[in-house]
Amino acid sequence: MKMALTIAGSDSGGGAGIQADLKTFQELEVFGMSALTAVTAQNTLGVHGVYPMTAEVVIEQMKAIGEDMGTDAVKTGMLFNAEIIEAVSVNLTKYHWDNVVVDPVMIAKGGASLLQMEAISAMQKFLLPLAKVVTPNIPEAEVLTGMSIRTAEDKREAAKKLHALGVQNIVLKGGHDENPSESIDLLFDGKEFYTFTSKRIPTKNTHGTGCTFSAAITAELAKGADVYQAVIKAKDFIQAAIEDGIAIGQGHGPTNHGA
Ligand code: PLP
Repeated sequence: MKMALTIAGSDSGGGAGIQADLKTFQELEVFGMSALTAVTAQNTLGVHGVYPMTAEVVIEQMKAIGEDMGTDAVKTGMLFNAEIIEAVSVNLTKYHWDNVVVDPVMIAKGGASLLQMEAISAMQKFLLPLAKVVTPNIPEAEVLTGMSIRTAEDKREAAKKLHALGVQNIVLKGGHDENPSESIDLLFDGKEFYTFTSKRIPTKNTHGTGCTFSAAITAELAKGADVYQAVIKAKDFIQAAIEDGIAIGQGHGPTNHGA
C-alpha cells in the first residue's frame, strides 16, 4: 500500500489540519501518517487557542517514521514558527523525502494566525526549495512574493517568482480572487502554465478546503501520478467535497472528505 505523511496542526473540530489530511488519505486509499506540529482548540466558529509542539517533538515523529516505515509522499500544513520549519526542512532532506507538497498555511478563514510572520523567511529559504509542489492561495502568494496579485498576468508573475525560490511546481489557487462565478487555479511547472477553471459553489461550509486539496494532491503523488494528473484529480476531489459540505456547528462547516 502507498503511504503519505502529513506534517501539520490538529483541528479539534475535525474539518481542517491533520484530521482533514488523514480523512482525505483514507478516502484516496493511501495509508496516512502524521507528525503533529501544533494543537488548535477549534470549532466551526473559529480558532480559540494555538499550542505549538517544540521542534524536538516534530523531529522525533519524523524520525520514528523515517527510521522504520518511510513514506511515498509528504505534505506540510500549519508549521507555526521558524524553528519547526527549519526542523522539518532538515529532516525532509535527511530521509530523502522529495515527493513534498507544501501548503503554506498562514491565516485561518476566521483570521487566526497559524504561522508567525517572522517565519516567512525560513519558509522561503529552507522549505520552498524542497517542495515539488506549493499550493498558496492568493494572499499567501502575495506574502511569499512580496507583490500584489490582481490580474491573470500578476498570477503568472507570482508563479515565476515562486519557481525562482526553488519550488518545482506552483499551484496558485484562485479561490480568493474576485471572480464571482468561477475559481481559476494556475499551475506552473517552470515551463508551461495550465489553468483549471471550476464553478463557484455558494456555500458557507468551506472549512478545511486548502488542507483537503493539498492532501489530495499528496495522495495522488504517493500513488504515482505526475503533478498535472495529481492536480486534476485533487480538483475533482475538492469540488465534490465542497459541493457536499457538511452543515454542522454554528459557523463554517467542513468540506465532506467522503463525498
Ligand atoms: N486549522 C488548522 C490546523 C489548519 O491547518 C488550517 C488550514 O490550513 C485551518 C485551521 C484553517 O482552515 P480554514 O481557513 O479552511 O478554516
